[in-house]
Amino acid sequence: MAQIKITDLQKRYDNVEVLRHINLTIHDGEFVVLVGPSGCGKSTLLRTIAGLETASSGDIHIGSRLMNQVAPKDRDISMVFQSYALYPHMTVARNMGFSLEVQKRPKAEIDAAVNKAAEILGLTALLQRRPKELSGGQRQRVAMGRAIVREPQVFLFDEPLSNLDAQLRGQMRIEIKSLHQRMKNTIVYVTHDQVEAMTLADRIVVLNHGLIQQVGTPLELYDTPANRFVASFIGSPAMNFIDGKLERHEKGCGVRINTQLLLPVDEQYGHLAAGRDVTYGIRPEALELCQHNEPGALPLDITLIEPTGLSELIHGKIAGEAVSVYSMVRSGAGPGGRVWVRLDASRMQLFDRDSQQRIIKTGERANDRAA
Ligand code: ADP
Repeated sequence: MAQIKITDLQKRYDNVEVLRHINLTIHDGEFVVLVGPSGCGKSTLLRTIAGLETASSGDIHIGSRLMNQVAPKDRDISMVFQSYALYPHMTVARNMGFSLEVQKRPKAEIDAAVNKAAEILGLTALLQRRPKELSGGQRQRVAMGRAIVREPQVFLFDEPLSNLDAQLRGQMRIEIKSLHQRMKNTIVYVTHDQVEAMTLADRIVVLNHGLIQQVGTPLELYDTPANRFVASFIGSPAMNFIDGKLERHEKGCGVRINTQLLLPVDEQYGHLAAGRDVTYGIRPEALELCQHNEPGALPLDITLIEPTGLSELIHGKIAGEAVSVYSMVRSGAGPGGRVWVRLDASRMQLFDRDSQQRIIKTGERANDRAA
């Protein structure tokens, strides 16, 4: 096991800056997920840690060793890719032990390593099968087994679940997480799927355009996003954003959206100057259905409802502004109908309209927003 320390890493292709000033320490035994939209640079960062890409500048240490000039095979890492790339003519056991065979390790040692990995992954009964006799999930487990037998310091996963259907992805997610809980190795895992990032990671690194937007635990990112990008990327269904202007009134302040709509602002934002252009952020689950005569009730004109059985995602407009509401209570309404909703002001957030940074509340610790 080992810590990975990345210092001022940059990667350029001709004039295109793919990674910009990346500084990141991944602790020994930590499960870190790199997440961001397609093209943000996450695979390049992972491949640079693996040594499959060369950095334009900056340093990578694994443990205490500077890796810049070290070949991938000498970095003591194992990588699991999206495509399992198993050898079709070899059994599961040989596929898993092949890297040790290449290293000319004794047969008894290879068998022991393969059996141990097979046991961890529930593959013992399948060791004599060939890849074509396995399901997609089993093949992915063999690919992980191949990585485990080498007992590397660090595991690198590059979108390993993207080829699996939704149900299997959910299952494999649980397997990978429990595998990490048992083995406690350092894992760097790339995905574009924020649900995968939230459910797997000890800490998440959100990237956009080659820049780290925020590093934090899943709930830190969810509850205290550094900026509008992180707030919109993390969380499904996504946060609602409505542009407006801060306004003061007798009881405190609000955000004026239009002539009919003044949204309530948490008192911890009370220090802000009136007139400031802001974006109001509220997650769909911070709105709930209520009666029309309750204090603060807002009319939501429904455009579309997505029922899941467990819940409803109600899309509509409040005073002309698009808003989605996540409701555990079935509305009984449909498109064209109207429901009334109440907003939990203690869960709203404000973003500066120009910089798109989240505005800090009074009493909030500055280190909640490490970037
Ligand atoms: P992600 O994994 O986040 O989808 P990548 O790390 O694969 O993104 O790519 C980041 C950016 O670098 C993309 O804009 C991509 O087009 C560019 N890129 C990747 N490889 C090369 C290359 N060999 N030459 C030029 N540009 C590249």
